[in-house]
Amino acid sequence: MAGVTAPGRPATAAIVAVGSELLNLGRTDTNSPYIAGVLQRHGLTVSCTTVVGDDWDDLVDTLRHAHARADLVVCTGGLGPTDDDRTRDAAAHVLGLALHEAPEIVAAIRERFVARGLTMPEINRRQALVPEGGTILPNRRGTAPGLWLPAGDRAIVLLPGPPREMQPMLEFAVSTYVAPRWGAGQTAQRAVMVGGRSESWVDERVQPIYASWQLESVPVHTTILASLGQVELHLTAHGPDRVVLETRLAGAVEALVAALGDDAVSSDGRSLEAVIGDLLRAYGWRLAVAESCTGGLVTSRLTDVSGSSDYVDRAVVAYGNRSKIADLDVPPDLIAAHGAVSEPVAVAMAEGLRRRAGVEVAVAVTGIAGPGGGSVEKPVGTVCLAVAGARGAVVRTARFTGDRLVIKALSASTILDMLRRYLLHEARQ
Ligand code: AMP
Ligand code: MG
Repeated sequence: MAGVTAPGRPATAAIVAVGSELLNLGRTDTNSPYIAGVLQRHGLTVSCTTVVGDDWDDLVDTLRHAHARADLVVCTGGLGPTDDDRTRDAAAHVLGLALHEAPEIVAAIRERFVARGLTMPEINRRQALVPEGGTILPNRRGTAPGLWLPAGDRAIVLLPGPPREMQPMLEFAVSTYVAPRWGAGQTAQRAVMVGGRSESWVDERVQPIYASWQLESVPVHTTILASLGQVELHLTAHGPDRVVLETRLAGAVEALVAALGDDAVSSDGRSLEAVIGDLLRAYGWRLAVAESCTGGLVTSRLTDVSGSSDYVDRAVVAYGNRSKIADLDVPPDLIAAHGAVSEPVAVAMAEGLRRRAGVEVAVAVTGIAGPGGGSVEKPVGTVCLAVAGARGAVVRTARFTGDRLVIKALSASTILDMLRRYLLHEARQ
């Protein structure tokens, strides 16, 4: 059947994720859904996804089957230099192609090792084997090059397993080979990030707005995705003309943002912490962070943004009372009177650090992440969060549910969203 594409039918793709670790070491195959999303955006129909171990026979069978069924097979993993990485050989075997060593790949891999002061191990030469008729897809983030293997009017593409190497190579392969050959129409996407609200709250607010969009002449599909402390609205439009799609999505985004008001964190893909960074930078303000139950998570997220040293001044993980007193100037009497997890202590932590650091704004988090340490009055999940700045402090107590890591993550998202709102309010003064 290879080589037969019925006219008018969308091209089909099969995805094969290779690696025994994906089957028996609890590693999750995150590449397949990512690849499926990219292919679907270009109008291909993904007919199946298979996860297969490193066994030679299983690998050959899976590739043969996928190649027989789909116009395009996208394969990820098993391109490393070790003996258990056999995807290259298996694909060549299925297509009946001989392998030859490409000297320019050997040179490029050797160069990567030399740049790090190392000598290339001989086993890495295996990564330079190219099936005849195949085209090399360069890998700027690792040693394993990818391969584009055309076969009649079908093709197999081999990509490395590590997501950060796979993703840019996939984009390259799709724009260079896949879209010109099989792409149907255009897909435009936008996302609106929402902070500090539950999924159902957001849906109740925006569903009446987007409900009719699917029926319009340029249909807009809306998906609502919730992660810990954040809700995302994803808008997709498919059609022949990109400009029309972008214009329609811009109008749709505008309508959602107007309905959400300050709950909308961004409509251009920026994360909560990036939005905070932009606000702080615009004011020329510096931030200090006092963390108890989040153990550094808030600071970690803030510093995920490149250039955050412009506004993140310092952070103190004041986990015990001794540190809250010694490092944040929290009065011992306040802790004795209200407990370490209390609004007065959260405010004192933020204000104490703000004074010490001499910064414009400081945040503090203190709470009970569990599973132990709760009481009737303050159950596990009780978290006090404060923002302190020149116009005084904002404080609140949240009651989160979930295990320890969930409570930590929700606490971090909540204090970041409180800070964002404090800064937005500041802009209107
Ligand atoms: P490999 O290319 O098979 O040597 O894979 C190298 C590493 O990439 C593995 O140890 C995994 O950590 C990661 N990896 C491989 N396949 C996948 C996948 N399908 N999804 C996510 N990570 C993967
Ligand atoms: Mg592997």
